[in-house]
Amino acid sequence: MNNSAMSDVNNLVLKARGLAKTYGQGPTAVEVLKAIDLDISTSEKVAIVGSSGSGKSTLLHLLGGLDTPSAGSVMLAGSNLNNLSVKRLDQLRNHSLGFIYQFHHLLDEFSAAENVALPLRIRGLSNDESMDRASKMLKAVGLAARELHTPGELSGGERQRVAVARALVGNPACVLADEPTGNLDTETADGVFDLMLNIARDQGTAFVIVTHDPVRAKRCDRILHLERGVLKPFSV
Ligand code: ADP
Ligand code: MG
Repeated sequence: MNNSAMSDVNNLVLKARGLAKTYGQGPTAVEVLKAIDLDISTSEKVAIVGSSGSGKSTLLHLLGGLDTPSAGSVMLAGSNLNNLSVKRLDQLRNHSLGFIYQFHHLLDEFSAAENVALPLRIRGLSNDESMDRASKMLKAVGLAARELHTPGELSGGERQRVAVARALVGNPACVLADEPTGNLDTETADGVFDLMLNIARDQGTAFVIVTHDPVRAKRCDRILHLERGVLKPFSV
């Protein structure tokens, strides 16, 4: 293997080639993504911007193996998602990815700590170890005192901090964040964004963040603009 092939294997957490998505068929078909190529390196932070309906969420779903492409492929941590069984895909996602959404998607009847522990329980870790690691992660997001509270007892910003802790607790190679601060006021959003970038830097996690905010996008290593199904470097 030559050097560039080796660095490919070692440094890329996500690699999309010719990724395309069309919803529906015939006259109502919507071609959302056209042959997208994208490389995400270890610990790289990439912002994706684009108008509403441009396909940002669709792209994240394909990168995370939550939906299947019409054409093309996604390599995650060296595995082609197209070739995996459902079980293996679930396992790979659980080990290699974290997800953060605009709305927290926490389980209302579980405490903050139980929510954060869930990815580790799914991974097969014991309850004690999962809760211990969840507890440490909640401390890292500044919520040590709120471990036992349920999402309904937390503010919007606190819930997103719990969601950040849940996404990062399993030390994934990459976090896919779809407008993670889109539902928060500016000050709270800044706090949550800072937190994500700081923890990501400490853990060496790559981030793909869809955001509408150009100031926050600029704090990432790269900004890509999705328009008419094509992803291009974005310059302000
Ligand atoms: P964004 O996240 O950038 O706002 P989306 O990825 O949610 O955009 O949607 C891109 C386009 O794909 C939109 O025109 C949307 O209506 C369409 N779309 C999304 N999901 C579906 C679906 N399941 N079936 C049909 N069309 C869809
Ligand atoms: Mg979206």
